[in-house]
Amino acid sequence: MDKKQTLLKQYFGYDEFREGQETLINSILNGTDTLGIMPTGAGKSICFQIPALMFEGVTIVISPLISLMKDQVSALNQAGIHAAFLNSSLTANQYRLALQYTKEGRYKIIYVAPERLVTEDFLEFALNADIAMVSIDEAHCVSQWGQDFRPSYLKIMEFIDKLPKRPVISAFTATATKEVKNDIIDILRLKQPTVVFTGFDRKNLSFAVQTPNDKYETVHKYIVDNIDQSGIIYCLTRKIVEEVCAKLKAEGVPVTRYHAGLSDAERVKNQEDFIYDRKPIMVATNAFGMGIDKSNVRFVIHYNMPKNIESYYQEAGRAGRDGEPSECILLYGGQDVVTNQFFIDNNNDNEELDSETLRLVKERDRDRLKKMTFYCFTNECLRDYILRYFGEYGSNYCGNCSNCLTQFEEMDVTDIAIHLLGCIQSSKQRYGMGVIIDTVHGNDLAKLKKYRMNENEHFGSLAHVSVFILRQVLNHLVLKEYLYLTNEEFSLVKLTNNALDILEGDHTVIMKLAKKQEKVAKEKKVKKSAKGRKDKDYGVIDEGLFELLRNLRSEIAKEEKVPPYIVFSDKTLIELCQAKPVTEEAMLAVSGVGKFKLDKYGERFIGVIKLNNY
Ligand code: ADP
Ligand code: ZN
Repeated sequence: MDKKQTLLKQYFGYDEFREGQETLINSILNGTDTLGIMPTGAGKSICFQIPALMFEGVTIVISPLISLMKDQVSALNQAGIHAAFLNSSLTANQYRLALQYTKEGRYKIIYVAPERLVTEDFLEFALNADIAMVSIDEAHCVSQWGQDFRPSYLKIMEFIDKLPKRPVISAFTATATKEVKNDIIDILRLKQPTVVFTGFDRKNLSFAVQTPNDKYETVHKYIVDNIDQSGIIYCLTRKIVEEVCAKLKAEGVPVTRYHAGLSDAERVKNQEDFIYDRKPIMVATNAFGMGIDKSNVRFVIHYNMPKNIESYYQEAGRAGRDGEPSECILLYGGQDVVTNQFFIDNNNDNEELDSETLRLVKERDRDRLKKMTFYCFTNECLRDYILRYFGEYGSNYCGNCSNCLTQFEEMDVTDIAIHLLGCIQSSKQRYGMGVIIDTVHGNDLAKLKKYRMNENEHFGSLAHVSVFILRQVLNHLVLKEYLYLTNEEFSLVKLTNNALDILEGDHTVIMKLAKKQEKVAKEKKVKKSAKGRKDKDYGVIDEGLFELLRNLRSEIAKEEKVPPYIVFSDKTLIELCQAKPVTEEAMLAVSGVGKFKLDKYGERFIGVIKLNNY
């Protein structure tokens, strides 16, 4: 076993490196600048932590958020590695002391907020220290292209330039389009860097879209069925957060909330309640989540459709950081599109933009919203849809999303298509989807009368087809480019040249429709809670033992003042339940149990396992 492998086992308790990790570590150890682009939960941290342990000097890790630093430092300390953070959460005295210890060489790794780097007292330390590596976490924050640009990240280069000797630089991110990637390399001035990109796919996440009549009931039922699990429910507005949270609370669900309208103190408290599993369910707007490293989030439900795929994947991606199966469910409702449209049209946040740029930004946002909406309507593999959006081409069957798990049947919808297209054509392409559907369905609405669409030759021609199917067919026609939506405040639906083939009867339209709307997914449900879990990877889990181990984990977390998942991950608890180790040696063989944690907690866990065996 080479040194890095020994460290992986000793400190982190893992036997093997995951994809990309070894290449990244070797490159850093060679002294080559390195950029790692890997999805959330892939294991980026140990790629800089292991080299940091092997280097002579100290490693400075730059991270954008206090909560991230705190979490990582707690995890390192729990693993028996001396590390500290330097940021504004420390009092002046604590800061002085931490810097003092750093100077004395007590830490191999220190986490620093970017704005600290070029302060006088930090520089005084840095200019006289042996700095082996500067590692930049969330490196996309240097790029103005991304959504998370932080001007303070630009201080990193200023800092490195001041150092007497240039250390090796490593950078990590989960979000990188080509522009962002090039920006990271250019702005951080990485020298012929090794770049490792492992793709965006998160195999342990399952994806589903549902269009329930009663969203609240759907959420409530899900939570009852998945009791004891931790999850996030994202809502589009503060008002919806308040409503959903209050209702769940009234039904006795351990739930908390987060949005920008709460006081700082309440936000901090609620976030901690969630992270420490005191309130395992969080109802929040998209203000929540950046910097949340909680590894045992088992589900992310979107109560509303978010504004674009980027946001969706980032938010949904907060599930399953520990690599365990987790569910991402989007509850679609027509109103979500309207609300998002409203946000786009009224977004005047960017005051510095001139009117032409603002127009372009809005146009781009509307385009992104459209692609998000199509996600909710496609009958193809959802994972593939997302990956394609990010420019990755995979197979169009993942077997782990609501579309792959739904039985579809092919249907000839040419007749329906002809009426829909005919209605659009005869009304001179002046209306949006809603009006067209209401017309062919023959809805008796004041709005239609105003437009005199009740006099249209297609009025009521598809009264026998449900509105749901009509919408699906219309979306299919857009996806297949027989129709397009105009990119303006009220999207109009218009014909493309291809549509004429259908209207002239030269073309049949076949599409996949769900069989009886009954999801096979229900039976095959991929993710399962540890309780009573019976999938082939794990065999049957002893529920009673899992509960006991979980309680012990909570007890230790309280003593150590760290979140439970930092003591042991859910995955490690599950493996303990199976292996039921009663010797130290056997316990060490369990993934996630390192030497330091074994010495600290081994006896207590083994004690519980032994008792349970009687
Ligand atoms: P990222 O920063 O890429 O989102 P983390 O570094 O937080 O991911 O790692 C995610 C989880 O994967 C952590 O619980 C970590 O301990 C675990 N992990 C990392 N490397 C390995 C490995 N080689 N084997 C098993 N688990 C690993
Ligand atoms: Zn799929």
